[in-house]
Amino acid sequence: MSAGGGTIIDGKAIAERCKERIRAQVAQLPMPPGITVVLVGDDPASKVYVSMKEVGCRDVGMRSEQVTLPKDVSQERLLATIDRLNEDPEVHAILVQLPLPGHIDEGAVLERVRPEKDVDGFHPCNVGLLQLGKATLVPCTPKGVVRLLEESGVAIAGAHAVIVGRSNIVGKPLAQLLLQRDATVTVCHSRTKGLAALTRQADILVAAVGRPGLITAEMVKDGAVVIDVGVNRVEDAHEKRGYRLCGDVDFARVREKARAITPVPGGVGPMTIAMLMENTLLAAQAQQQARGRAQRGGAR
Ligand code: NAP
Repeated sequence: MSAGGGTIIDGKAIAERCKERIRAQVAQLPMPPGITVVLVGDDPASKVYVSMKEVGCRDVGMRSEQVTLPKDVSQERLLATIDRLNEDPEVHAILVQLPLPGHIDEGAVLERVRPEKDVDGFHPCNVGLLQLGKATLVPCTPKGVVRLLEESGVAIAGAHAVIVGRSNIVGKPLAQLLLQRDATVTVCHSRTKGLAALTRQADILVAAVGRPGLITAEMVKDGAVVIDVGVNRVEDAHEKRGYRLCGDVDFARVREKARAITPVPGGVGPMTIAMLMENTLLAAQAQQQARGRAQRGGAR
């Protein structure tokens, strides 16, 4: 532990190292991986996320395109757009930016994306493969959390990992990934009784809720590793934009007890984007290999 408390896990630096490796592998492919992000409506936060993903993908040599549809687009038109992208051999990865407007059936849209192009890992096939420990395309945020732990030298096997939050995109897939690495996993949620008594048992504590300050120092064991997935906007008159970003963890106080902790911003966020690039690379590699095999088969 350093003077001011636990080590800060630098997600930005670790993400940069991941991107270096991805860039090198992209350069070896016959065709650069192509990702298309589908954005419905003009939600400002979604636009920011989409542009960060696009910039990141281009930065490692991938082709990135955006399809923007109006917020009142019909479900049929959205599904037809996905069908077209599914058929396009230059599109290796399809990402539908969530949340979708209320009149759209999100599940039907996510199921329409071909599993091999589903770089978010949200298709039921990929969710099932994750349960079986056989997934190639694993949801980016939990994958990024595990990579942060691994790259920081945190021992996962045998550790008690407590995850606060059980969403399909973070908590549940993260529980699977940590179980596969031999952690003992406890998953907590809004109906959990005695939350603090459980979080205090954690060697690895992950907060993925969306409530600033939910995890206080009293809820953390001395020497725990704390990963803060939460991203919250809190009003701050001192900031030019009128708000600042923070996680779910009371960072300064929890850091005094933790062995290591991720900041917000600069922790899990950059890793989510790096893992999206990695998934796009994996999807492109698999599709290009399959096409190569099919062409060789056809030439016989
Ligand atoms: P979500 O779908 O809203 O799920 C939140 C989870 O927190 C639910 O399981 C909920 O329980 C639980 N919860 C709510 N209040 C609680 C409380 N008082 N005590 C214990 N558990 C409580 O959110 P999400 O999509 O998983 O995202 C979680 C946070 O991570 C958000 O801040 C989001 O912005 C952030 N996030 C960040 C990244 C990144 O790249 N950094 C990526 C994704 C998400 P119930 O199931 O009982 O309702």
